[in-house]
Amino acid sequence: MRAGLARPKRVNPHQLSLPIDEYLSRSHRPGIARPRRMFCNRNLRMSHIAWVGFDMDYTLAIYNQREMDELSIRATIAKLVKRGYPELVRTVPYSTDFPVRGLLIDKRFGNVLKMNRYKHVTKGYHGLRELGRDELRKLYHAKKIRPATPRYHWVDTLYALSEVTLYAALVEAMEERGLALDYAKTFADIRESIDEAHRDGTILETVMGDFPRFVLRDHDLAPTLHKLRSAGKKVFLLTNSRWSYTDKMMTYLLDDEMAEYPHWRNYFDVVVVAATKPAFFQEQRPLMERSGDVLHPAAFPLERGKIYEGGNLHDLERGLGAASDEVLYVGDHIYGDILRSKKESAWRTAMIIQELEGEVLAYDSCREDFERAEHLEDVRDRLEDELRFYQNRYKELTRRLELPRGKTNGAVKTEGEAERARVKRAIDHVRERLRHVGPELEAIERRVDQRFHPFWGSLLKEENEESSFGAQVEEYACLYTSRVSNFLAYSPQQYFRSPRDEMAHEIG
Ligand SMILES: [Mg+2]
Repeated sequence: MRAGLARPKRVNPHQLSLPIDEYLSRSHRPGIARPRRMFCNRNLRMSHIAWVGFDMDYTLAIYNQREMDELSIRATIAKLVKRGYPELVRTVPYSTDFPVRGLLIDKRFGNVLKMNRYKHVTKGYHGLRELGRDELRKLYHAKKIRPATPRYHWVDTLYALSEVTLYAALVEAMEERGLALDYAKTFADIRESIDEAHRDGTILETVMGDFPRFVLRDHDLAPTLHKLRSAGKKVFLLTNSRWSYTDKMMTYLLDDEMAEYPHWRNYFDVVVVAATKPAFFQEQRPLMERSGDVLHPAAFPLERGKIYEGGNLHDLERGLGAASDEVLYVGDHIYGDILRSKKESAWRTAMIIQELEGEVLAYDSCREDFERAEHLEDVRDRLEDELRFYQNRYKELTRRLELPRGKTNGAVKTEGEAERARVKRAIDHVRERLRHVGPELEAIERRVDQRFHPFWGSLLKEENEESSFGAQVEEYACLYTSRVSNFLAYSPQQYFRSPRDEMAHEIG
């Protein structure tokens, strides 16, 4: 051994004399990086939570979106050709970057739309061509649209993004070649083809055959579940996936991650597969127990280590033996996991939004633009006030100057005309300044949109409003975050507090 290696380390004489100001001004701040934070819409005390439940797909299992899209699109195209679509669909160019969650398909006109929280259509594409303002107004503003009717299809899962990619690509490619397209039938064919590819195993078997390609193994997941369990929480799995797929996926995600848990089932107190959410929350399907390949009605109390299938909210709550508001359910599907559970029960909800890390980074990179936009909006408000004031003054002066002769003398009239000319100049000046504000605000909006997403801008916002998707997240998810393992940085007894709500009259 070299003698030098055994020497004690020398203490750096400067180590303790770091000036506190310098320390405080360092850019690195303690705490959790914003993209990995839990964001809170509704106050939630984790100390009140007895059970934490998890969905599996896109919640515990983070899929590689690009690979999944490619797989789904290839499978769908093969089925479309079998249905009689021309061979050229095999070679249509498509962009998996095109869609985001929360879009609306208009099956009558073949358009893809984004709405704000008031269901007002703010952006739209026909194929990959952006719809102009006049088109949007003519098609969607002049009359109230009804997104819940069969004319429209709401895209709210990451699974469904590939359908939008392919739909826009087919509309674009067919029309470019002058081929007529039945917009509604084409969308229905895409939907049926992809469902068929799921049902007949084309997609799931490919995923199971190569998990590392399609699924991200998050090594913080096991410690996260362990931390919750160590704090006395019970943990359940509630997934729509079938047993064989669930078992293989969970084995890939959790087996051999921690010595204390040799098998993934050791992390969970209750496991329910093939749950058919959202019907699970609304209907009374029987809860079954699986023994090998045989299913029989479940016996209560539910037992750790057993596999349950199907079921319903009522039976599960009875099995958990907890009050409804002591359950926190973590899922990714705004309708099936979050909205439905919130409406049918008192479960607390946490939504996993895989896109959130990119969304937060984009938001943070736009801060200067947001400040500038806020300043410009203040300036615009002030200028519009000034304009109103001067216009009223101008009208008032004009009225006085036009009074019949004899009621006013010449000197007063000249003075009045000079004043009116001054007011006119002020009006011109204010108008000129206003003319510049609008285009600059629009340029900022476009720049901000580009930082979020080249076609749709922010997932959760639309101009100054929430997007229709963002509004649902705010209304139904008590917490939202980018991945389950973000819980790891927080105490299992954390008190999550929501920011103060502000109404328009409380601002400024
Ligand atoms: Mg899911």
